[in-house]
Amino acid sequence: MTSPPIGRPSAWTEQAACAQSDLPVQSWDADQPPHINAEAILVCNTCPVALECLLEHGRDPDMGIIAGLPARKRGELFAITNRDLRPVHGSRSRYMGSSRWPGCRCGKCRDAHAKYEQEARARRKAGRATA
Ligand code: SF4
Ligand SMILES: [Zn+2]
Repeated sequence: MTSPPIGRPSAWTEQAACAQSDLPVQSWDADQPPHINAEAILVCNTCPVALECLLEHGRDPDMGIIAGLPARKRGELFAITNRDLRPVHGSRSRYMGSSRWPGCRCGKCRDAHAKYEQEARARRKAGRATA
């Protein structure tokens, strides 16, 4: 396991702080002791392309330190991001769910779904009445 820019060229890696650092690339590896990873984290914290690095490599659990974060912390970060991207409770889309997260059956979401169904029935009925 190496720091991302090495052996994985991407346009942004030309600015990667780790590629210009004197630290050995192993400093970013997950199996290094914390004080070694801490040195890598300091380099990441000065990196102008940390966001690009996080977006490209952050979801890879085999990567050691990415954008100053170990894999476990990145997992937490992406879990929060995914959760917050879901529609609010009390909406039909939250009730329905998506391919990435299950539908919600809380009272608010059930109510929103019931209301949607009721309105859809009313629209269909109105459509038949005018046809
Ligand atoms: S964020 Fe860290 S690992 Fe990623 S390119 Fe920058 S210095 Fe390297
Ligand atoms: Zn809900």
